[in-house]
Amino acid sequence: MSRGRSISEIIGIINKYDSFLITSHINPDGDAIGSQFALKSLLEQKKKRVTVVNAEPVPSAYGFLGKWICPGELKQKPDFEVAIILDSSNLSRLPEVVLSLLLDKILVNIDHHISNEKFGRLNWVDPEASAVGEMIYRLYGKMDCKISRDGALALYVAILTDTGLFRYTNTDSTTHDIASELLKIGIDPHWVAERIYGVNTLASMKLLALALSTIKVSDNGRIGWLCVRSDMLKKTGASFQDTGDFVNYARSIRGLEVAIFFSETETKDEIKISFRSKGKTDVNAIAKNFQGGGHPQASGCRIKGKLDEVIPMVIAEVQKALR
Ligand code: 5GP
Ligand code: MN
Repeated sequence: MSRGRSISEIIGIINKYDSFLITSHINPDGDAIGSQFALKSLLEQKKKRVTVVNAEPVPSAYGFLGKWICPGELKQKPDFEVAIILDSSNLSRLPEVVLSLLLDKILVNIDHHISNEKFGRLNWVDPEASAVGEMIYRLYGKMDCKISRDGALALYVAILTDTGLFRYTNTDSTTHDIASELLKIGIDPHWVAERIYGVNTLASMKLLALALSTIKVSDNGRIGWLCVRSDMLKKTGASFQDTGDFVNYARSIRGLEVAIFFSETETKDEIKISFRSKGKTDVNAIAKNFQGGGHPQASGCRIKGKLDEVIPMVIAEVQKALR
């Protein structure tokens, strides 16, 4: 489906229906959060009824963007016609409690992951987009909607975070053009960066110190990894959410091609893995071997097993991909 056709079909659905539910993936990141609030703002301008529902509350660093509803807070099943799912490459990225609300509804899938499984009735998937926030920005333009200050703030957060502060390979002049337009609406980039990146807790720094002490590099110097075990969370009082950018510390090692972060999770016997590529290695392809996905340079998956078994198995798979 061409990009032009899918965006016009999305606009068709928005115009045709009155009530929408917006949701995104587990462990929501800045793009998942920002694009949901920006789309909510757009739909409300169009006088639609909109509910944003996610299993977990808005992470505290992003609290300045607003609140959404968690399933436990719903007095009854939300009444809506269309569910719009953002930034999620497949339906297993959504938790069961949210999936159960979507049965028999029209699903609209808006995403930028190359691994997207096109699970919607309508799928607008653009792997060229730096963030889903960039796609929602284009939707505002195509629908002739003025971006409010709150909308601009949410879009800016989505793009800022998914480009790693305009550092990753998904950053280009278009990304900066859009950011510039958003700043003109009244966004203060310093204020935003401080809210998101200047609010680490002491507990999270202590967790980082423990995680950094686990860093290892393969003999050939091409793969680096670090891990977090649940006893480290207990010891420091930090949470799983605090580990979001730990993989980047391994990624920053000179000469490395692939960085990996392993973490035990709340779910017993399941390891969460983040992959980052610094070069040509397609880590989306590696994550796919473990039923995960993402982008060529940033991907993830979850694997059942113990840390001690999972780490060597994954490293061996990455070594294979590097040959
Ligand atoms: P992160 O490592 O920051 O959690 O995720 C990096 C990228 O990979 C993100 O774009 C994210 O959506 C994707 N990703 C992370 N974990 C999974 C997973 O378990 N399954 C799939 N399909 N994608 C994932
Ligand atoms: Mn994204």
